[in-house]
Parts: sequence; C-alpha cells; structure tokens
Amino acid sequence: MRLRCLEAIVLSVFAGCVTPQVQPAPTTAENQHEFLELARHAREENIERGGVIVLQGNRQIFIEIENTIRKDNGLFQQYVDFNRPQDYLTLCEHIDAALSTRTRCEPKLRSYFTAEAAYIKMRLNGLQYISGEERLQLAAQLWRKYEHLVLHNMYKMNQEQYSAAERQGHITAVVHTHDNTGPSLQDEYLSTTIPQIVVRINPDDSLIIYSGICGKFGIMPKCINMAN
Ligand SMILES: [Zn+2]
Repeated sequence: MRLRCLEAIVLSVFAGCVTPQVQPAPTTAENQHEFLELARHAREENIERGGVIVLQGNRQIFIEIENTIRKDNGLFQQYVDFNRPQDYLTLCEHIDAALSTRTRCEPKLRSYFTAEAAYIKMRLNGLQYISGEERLQLAAQLWRKYEHLVLHNMYKMNQEQYSAAERQGHITAVVHTHDNTGPSLQDEYLSTTIPQIVVRINPDDSLIIYSGICGKFGIMPKCINMAN
C-alpha cells in the first residue's frame, strides 16, 4: 500500500501582496507583557508559541493559539504503537510542512532537508513490518530525526482555535515566537498573505518585536522594559 502525504498547509499561492484593509496598530504594553510570557515559555520548552491579534472596537487583543506540533510526541508514539494510517498521514503532513518551511529559510540545505524528510517518511511507513528490539530502536532514531526536522522549528496553528478567534473580531496579524533569531524568509513570505509579528527573545531576556507586511519587516517600538 502506498500512502500519499498531504500537501503542506503552510504553503499558499503567491499572488502578490495586497495591503491589508486594517493595519496592525503598534502593540500595547499589555500585548508586550503577554508576548514576553509567551516567548519565555516557548524558550523553556524549545517549541514555538504564537497566536493572533484581533481587533475588538479600537482595541487589539492577543489570543494565544496552540501550536499543533506540540502534540506530535504523543502522535508519534501512538503511530509506533498502533500503525494507524491516519496518524501516518498527519505525521507526513507535518514533515512536508517542515520541509517547505525550512527549505525556504535555508535554501542551501534543501537537499539535506529533502533527504531527511523522505527517509523519515519511508522508514515510518516501513515500521509496520518490523518488530521487537529492532522496531524500538528504529522508532527512537526516527523520533530524534523528526524532532530535529519538525518539532523545534515550526508554528502550526490549531485550526479550530483560529476559527474561534476569527469569530471574536477581525484578525490583524499572526504572532509567533523565535528564540534569539529574527524573522525568517518563510516569515517574509507569509507576511505577503497576512501581517506577521515575530517575537524574538534574546538570551538576556530582552525582547525584539518585528512586524512584517508585504514581505518587509520592521522593529516595533517597545512599551515595556523587558529585561528584569
Ligand atoms: Zn518564524
């Protein structure tokens, strides 16, 4: 049986940038306190966090949205235990999304990422034919590769939570955290579809907040003294 992996959902058709009707306003001190907490948690766990800015009246509120990748440890183990095709497809979907994201960020490593993604998908599929100690060892090896390729480098929003946020008001920007790096080429690309806010936390706990529209990022003014 040949399983087909789903297309990466982070990719959308590049149709040129349309200036958004509602520009994201400078974030408030309240937003920035929330960003600081968000970035600290993300750094502790080495898993990106994020959410959306929603316009309610003249206020812009931040709503955190779960990174679905966070559950992949459990999903991976479930697949190893039960070999359910649906779990395999979801893992493949995340692998493909990570592949396109990371290739866009680091084009020079395209062949490495492509080979890693293909290897993980192929061996995961083959896991069902192996048993015993060999199976456990392969599963552990594949998890390390999966973690390296997918888990620590992606923010993939929970779609149900995103829909719920949409019902609360107009979404003016998508927010996600970075540990000590600025916006990536992928973030520039995504900002052509919807404004992006990248919250960067530095090793000294200071924060830099980047705002991107139409592929260009600038640094937002700070409202709070972040290092404490
Ligand atoms: Zn990013």
